[in-house]
Amino acid sequence: MHGLMMDTQLSISSILRHAEKVHQHCEIVSRKPEGGVFRYTYKDAGRRARQAANVLTRLGVKQQDRVATLAWNTHRHYELYFAVSGSGAVLHTVNPRLFPEQIIYILNHAEDEVLFVDIQFVPLIEAIHDQLPLLKHIVLMVDKDKMPESKLDLLCYEELIDAASEEYEWPSFDENMAATLCYTSGTTGNPKGVLYSHRSTVIHALASVSNDALGVCNQSVVLPVVPMFHVNAWGVPYGATAGGAKLVLPGAGMDGASLYELISGEEVSLLLGVPTVWLGLLQYCDQEKLTLSSVEEVVIGGSAAPMSMIKAFQEKHDAFVIHAWGMTELSPMGTVNSMNNYMASLSQEERYKLQTKQGRPIYGIEIRIVDAEGKELLQDGKAFGRLQVRGPWVASSYYKHEDQSDWEDGWFDTGDVATIDEHGYMNIVDRAKDVIKSGGEWISSIDVENIAIGHEAVAECAVVGVPHPKWDERPLLLVVLNPGTSLTKEEMLEYLSDKIVKWWMPDEVMFVEELPHTPTGKLLKRELRDQYQDVYTQ
Ligand code: AMP
Repeated sequence: MHGLMMDTQLSISSILRHAEKVHQHCEIVSRKPEGGVFRYTYKDAGRRARQAANVLTRLGVKQQDRVATLAWNTHRHYELYFAVSGSGAVLHTVNPRLFPEQIIYILNHAEDEVLFVDIQFVPLIEAIHDQLPLLKHIVLMVDKDKMPESKLDLLCYEELIDAASEEYEWPSFDENMAATLCYTSGTTGNPKGVLYSHRSTVIHALASVSNDALGVCNQSVVLPVVPMFHVNAWGVPYGATAGGAKLVLPGAGMDGASLYELISGEEVSLLLGVPTVWLGLLQYCDQEKLTLSSVEEVVIGGSAAPMSMIKAFQEKHDAFVIHAWGMTELSPMGTVNSMNNYMASLSQEERYKLQTKQGRPIYGIEIRIVDAEGKELLQDGKAFGRLQVRGPWVASSYYKHEDQSDWEDGWFDTGDVATIDEHGYMNIVDRAKDVIKSGGEWISSIDVENIAIGHEAVAECAVVGVPHPKWDERPLLLVVLNPGTSLTKEEMLEYLSDKIVKWWMPDEVMFVEELPHTPTGKLLKRELRDQYQDVYTQ
């Protein structure tokens, strides 16, 4: 017997419709890529999203057509989040940091016919346009009086919006229909598309803003520095809208000074971003002797949050770090390390240690670790193995891709290696391909990096395993120094010596100007391994 409840389909448009009615006066603040700050309310955003939906119809976009964006975190991008998916088309957010060949590949693979771009990306599109045979319309998201000269036939977003009706009836459809598309930035092979549905997006948004996760509500002032062009900015635009939070969108300004200005001016309480962004902000605050007085919590994910960063936010800015882990294939939230009774019962030092773990699964996500034969391992905080996940917002396959090798018995294999302790806390040891295998034992490159970065002279560092004649592989530490500081190999090793076991100690420390990164800001370790492969064999 079925329950006797209404069969209401979950839809992305319903989130904005809710905010428009219930949180109508709540603000959205956006730094425009062409300069200046724009502010309006959820009520205005609802109106402009309906106008944008009418623009899509005018441009010939039909249900389930893919519509691409190449854009920063702005109010216009936000409007498209709802207009495109809400009208039944699929929002394809494109990461501008990908190589041009990858951008060409994914725009053609997704068969995008309409592309919305920010002004900074016009030269990029001009350069690759003749390799995008399917593209019919390019809409530039800029004020009317800032439209640039271009060899391309560019439409102006603001002009189209002005001419569009405010009347639009959001269609209702099967909640399992595709809503958004995001390609992973795999370091080998072509990027693979993850196709989210309305159902997965709405459930993910509700779960991730709950109190035990990010705790986003009407009293929050949220600044997602995580880009809207990658995994829907961790779902924050949807979650903040559902919760009626004040939403602050940083545009292209991710440097310490621009972020500080926005955080202090708008009294931001919740920050979300990757560690490299926070390094810049913390350095800027140190230099200028400033504190982030309005900030209560900082969500850090995408790469491991080092203890020195967790401590700096807590001790210098009285801001609690919520360490989180996720992936494009998980919409992306998987585990979150928020405050709870157990953490509250610990001493400050024990708490910091716990905070370096990536946390516990949010309700809806199940995790397990398995050995090489696929046998589930103990949750004792020591055994480590391949991390697998399942749940309603985990991908079941890639878009237009036959290969199912990342899925096994209904579980998705994340490619990460992790431990899970008796309290359910997951700790990422490494990416499976980055773990260092030395004399038959494993060394966590992340653990060594997290300790090395604690030295005040170290701005950024990477640990990679390189071939060694006796031990198979040995760790090599590459260090970028903070400006105006100096450090020797001996001083670095001395600093590490009482913090890690002896056989984890890097055999060599090298000082470099910069480290290579992936388009989503992670260390590109494959390139480092290739570049330094002969260090121990020469
Ligand atoms: P992406 O799909 O680009 O979001 O990258 C997902 C990958 O980033 C994961 O599989 C992890 O390897 C890594 N990652 C994400 N969050 C964390 C974290 N908090 N600590 C360590 N690695 C992380």
